[in-house]
Amino acid sequence: MCFTYREAALYKKDLEQILPKLEISSANFTYEEREPDLQKEGLVFNLQRFSVNDGPGVRTIVFLNGCPLRCKWCCNPESQRMKPVIMWKQQNCVGCGNCSVVCPTGACQIRDAGRIDHSKCIVCGKCVDVCYHQALEMSGKVMTVEEVLKELYQDRTVYRRSGGGITISGGEALMQHEFLEELLRGCKSMGWTTAIETTGYAPKEVLDKIIPLLDTVMMDIKHIDPEVHKAWTGVSNERILENALYIATIAKELIIRVPVIPGFNADEDTIRGIAKFCTYLEKDHFVGIHLLPYHDFGTNKYDMLGKDYEMIGTERPDEDYMKYLKSIVEAEGLYCQIGG
Ligand code: SF4
Ligand code: SF4
Ligand code: SF4
Repeated sequence: MCFTYREAALYKKDLEQILPKLEISSANFTYEEREPDLQKEGLVFNLQRFSVNDGPGVRTIVFLNGCPLRCKWCCNPESQRMKPVIMWKQQNCVGCGNCSVVCPTGACQIRDAGRIDHSKCIVCGKCVDVCYHQALEMSGKVMTVEEVLKELYQDRTVYRRSGGGITISGGEALMQHEFLEELLRGCKSMGWTTAIETTGYAPKEVLDKIIPLLDTVMMDIKHIDPEVHKAWTGVSNERILENALYIATIAKELIIRVPVIPGFNADEDTIRGIAKFCTYLEKDHFVGIHLLPYHDFGTNKYDMLGKDYEMIGTERPDEDYMKYLKSIVEAEGLYCQIGG
């Protein structure tokens, strides 16, 4: 697979052309302070407290809806669309049919067909209100910046003592960049450190607005080959690789994360290709590569959404193999760790 070297060479050439024109570095790329708009609304599908794997210290993760990718292994399929979604836990359902009776659109077909027709669902929530067995739930809630900040405020002491803070995740949080900007401004005004887990798949204007508000950027590079990337995620990686080069010049700290997915990128050549590409990232701000072994924790969510999980039967790479891939990254002179 010689494309890895071709790609690295290609991006080296681009980098040499791009960087002198940018005349930019994180030192002169700061944000203008102003009060956040606390009433700005966004769609949030989860708040996860006490996380230790998603940035420095102990953190609260804010998960925002919306993602332009469709990764086959996605463990948050409920996050992909920019609207709430009804999830059905079949194991809790007693088949009473209350939900089908109140559904105004005929989308709730649990009594007759054992499914929800999401194409007809207007997410009114009436079915959830009459399900007394916790078999239905709505994922995705409209919240104001103020409401999110109040939730985050509960753990302010933990952030301070652990050197932690707030991590924004998704979905792809950059899709809700207007809400995200106000939320990050709110976090900064509280003195909390900020991080993001991102695909980096966003227009440059969005990056210019959001990256200066972040202390740590954790960005995925999933594959180096545009066609393979498109086949497994639904989009080409060209914008992502270009943005990685750019983000490395403006971020305070950039970590590249690679979800290691058997059958997609869990091979020596692909991991070496990604590592070689990363050797061209601006070194003052690029910390290293985190290899994240595949897991299937999101499988049950596919059942709850009535979707097929394409990765069924895929096994998590074992520890020795992950160490081997780590050694390949390290051979390129980069820091590497297994896990986030
Ligand atoms: S949320 Fe409303 S439209 Fe959707 S299935 Fe439930 S009752 Fe029907
Ligand atoms: S209301 Fe709840 S328990 Fe009754 S059929 Fe619907 S999902 Fe099942
Ligand atoms: S980028 Fe993340 S949230 Fe989006 S589809 Fe891929 S795994 Fe899911």
